[in-house]
Amino acid sequence: MRAAIIFFAIALLLSGCQMPVARVPSTSHSTLAAEIRHETGDILEKYVTARQRLLVIGMPILSANASLCPRRALSPGFIVYSDFDVPYPLQNVARERLNLTRDAVVLAVTPRSDAWHQGLRTGDIIVTMDGKPVRNAANFRARAKKIKNEQSAVFGIVRNGRAFNLSLPFKPICNYPLVYMPSIRDINAMTDARKIYVTQGMLDFASDGELAAVIGHELAHAVMHHIPKEDANTALLKLAGGVIDGLVDIDLTEKLLDAYIQAWSAPFEKEADYVGLYLLARSGSDIAAAAPFWRRIAAEHGMSAVVLPSHVLRTHPDSPERFASLRAAEAEIMKKAESGAPLMPEMAGTWNFGARFSWWSDTSEDDDEPDDTDLNH
Ligand SMILES: [Zn+2]
Repeated sequence: MRAAIIFFAIALLLSGCQMPVARVPSTSHSTLAAEIRHETGDILEKYVTARQRLLVIGMPILSANASLCPRRALSPGFIVYSDFDVPYPLQNVARERLNLTRDAVVLAVTPRSDAWHQGLRTGDIIVTMDGKPVRNAANFRARAKKIKNEQSAVFGIVRNGRAFNLSLPFKPICNYPLVYMPSIRDINAMTDARKIYVTQGMLDFASDGELAAVIGHELAHAVMHHIPKEDANTALLKLAGGVIDGLVDIDLTEKLLDAYIQAWSAPFEKEADYVGLYLLARSGSDIAAAAPFWRRIAAEHGMSAVVLPSHVLRTHPDSPERFASLRAAEAEIMKKAESGAPLMPEMAGTWNFGARFSWWSDTSEDDDEPDDTDLNH
């Protein structure tokens, strides 16, 4: 003990004497302030670009499958945002980097929607809706939410100082807002049957085709009512916010999942893969990208993805099984597409697509604002 105290005292003394001797050039406060603004602007651009990519890839899947989804909303085919919609620390550079102000600026246009066909673009400003001024993105969302029937609205738009009108229809869309999770590096995506969450790690890892497949898979969990009743497994819902995906965060699954979930989960994952591929096909996306994703996951995660160790609860099928099943589903879908048959998954029993959860009340319709406000880099 005494020796240890002497050792630490000497170490402290030595480190106290040791000083850097190189003459590092000094920097001014204003140089640093400018660099802070620059780097904050870079973070903002990355954040907005990621959200746009998620929306552009995901929105066609949400649109094409509206009739199959338990939760539906009406969408004009585009999403707006204002400066207050980006995380707070990024708001003060929003104007100079992205020309983003309090106005309702188009963040993303759904590919192949009416808005897209009529040429609405990212960056356009929505200034009026049916003749009344649109003050900002929140004001726009509140008014769009009041639309209850499939109807058109006339939008006053400003692009580069030039004003014009577009008449665009509100059409049904699966109401599972796509939430970007910028601070999570795990390759993961999940759903709580209200929203679909995609991590930064997934966006970094997945190609556009793979990201579409992941969104199709998550949407399939919602379409097939995989999220248990709130009282059926509160632990899973509370801790993970829904169904855990993206394969193996082994620590998390070990802590979380009991035998019930083990029995419950793996077959449902296979079903989500299968139905998700149909949802993807129905949106006109390339279904061939889904299966190879699992080969890449295996290469990323190593043997734990290929043969799950015996001590790990099998919450997900392993990657070879997922690859092979998806390839078989792909062949089934291609055959239907070639013969012009409807692109609907094969069901062993009856399934009422588009029916609401029996345990939902209408009061459970919450706000659908994206809540991706955390940014902890
Ligand atoms: Zn899943």
